[in-house]
Amino acid sequence: MTDRTTPATPTRRSRLIVLAGPTAVGKGTVAAAVRETHPEVWLSVSATTRAPRPGEENGVHYWFVSDEEFDAMVEKGDLLEWAVVHKAARYGTPRGPVDLALASGHPAMLEIDLQGARQVRETMPEALFVFLAPPTWEELVRRLVGRGTETEAERERRLETARAELAAESEFDVTIVNHEVYAAADELVALMVGPS
Ligand code: 5GP
Repeated sequence: MTDRTTPATPTRRSRLIVLAGPTAVGKGTVAAAVRETHPEVWLSVSATTRAPRPGEENGVHYWFVSDEEFDAMVEKGDLLEWAVVHKAARYGTPRGPVDLALASGHPAMLEIDLQGARQVRETMPEALFVFLAPPTWEELVRRLVGRGTETEAERERRLETARAELAAESEFDVTIVNHEVYAAADELVALMVGPS
């Protein structure tokens, strides 16, 4: 992959953004930058069966739930989408809060994996699907290794997933290249509310 410098070309705007992209590209960091600089944007808090990492708070980064609790949410139809990610844990978007945010007129954003994005495209095609891409494959690997939170086997699994996820870029409406976190966050928000 050659270095990517092309800025995102906004084709249209939407109040609901679905942000996806390969593992370790920085989706979580970009979402945090949006939260910090644009508090008017509502960010969905996913439910997950994985254990919290140090510093992660229940209800802020994720709703950390048991397998049984996740099963119950699926059965009740409480999740807008859900998926097993990295063959390791289940992640899903609680439906009610998304509906509420949109009904109250807030711009809203989901940060989810590719499988989840495909499900949302089926049920909410009016959303804008944004692919966050790394500047290069080498940079993606560097970011993944640099994070140091995964075991070797886990890293291999994530890289395998990342390869498949990168190949899905053309399914998305817009690509944002994550050269710099705050710039990427601004580009994202501009897709919801116009340039700041
Ligand atoms: P992490 O465990 O590093 O926080 O997240 C792993 C992956 O799960 C990331 O690719 C993230 O986008 C994805 N993810 C987080 N929340 C959700 C969700 O609600 N639904 C889906 N499908 N994927 C999610």
